[in-house]
Amino acid sequence: MSHWSSLIRDVDDFPKPGILFKDITPVLANGPAFAQAMAELAAPWRGLGLDAVIGIESRGFILGAALAHELQVGFVPVRKPGKLPARTLSLDYALEYGRDRLEIHADALAPGARVVVVDDVLATGGTLRTALALARQQGAEVAGVAVLVELAFLGARAGWDDPAPLVATLAF
Ligand code: AMP
Repeated sequence: MSHWSSLIRDVDDFPKPGILFKDITPVLANGPAFAQAMAELAAPWRGLGLDAVIGIESRGFILGAALAHELQVGFVPVRKPGKLPARTLSLDYALEYGRDRLEIHADALAPGARVVVVDDVLATGGTLRTALALARQQGAEVAGVAVLVELAFLGARAGWDDPAPLVATLAF
């Protein structure tokens, strides 16, 4: 089998003109490719004594739940506004195409919980930074950030001043 990354599909002008969208759904739809991608995503985080994986809506849910299962730890969702039923913490942020807000259940993480935060694509990094801030507001210790795809040409890594390491399985 060729490497799973060959299944990532480039979609021009989605969701807005000028955006080259990296579509991971063909990777997810292919069993061996998905398994290979998850093995690579999980490798840096094994044996670190993590307590939970935080996944960002919506593709971060898919990867995050699979990663939590791989690592045998809990999964905590970070969601778009108004989706989580119980009391939440929320933060506004800017993203590559617009503005948004993210929320987490206020009691989702115990103080001192060691977590890794997961999303599919790192673009500007604003989404991940917001999720990190939400985790830390609850006293969690962020062991790192895992993304499947880093859009290196956007330069987020150069501006990454967070102490949590940023690990990408693949960079374009
Ligand atoms: P950012 O906050 O700019 O790093 O944006 C990351 C979030 O937006 C992730 O949840 C991605 O799923 C999504 N995203 C941003 N740009 C792209 C892109 N070019 N291709 C695919 N997803 C993207």
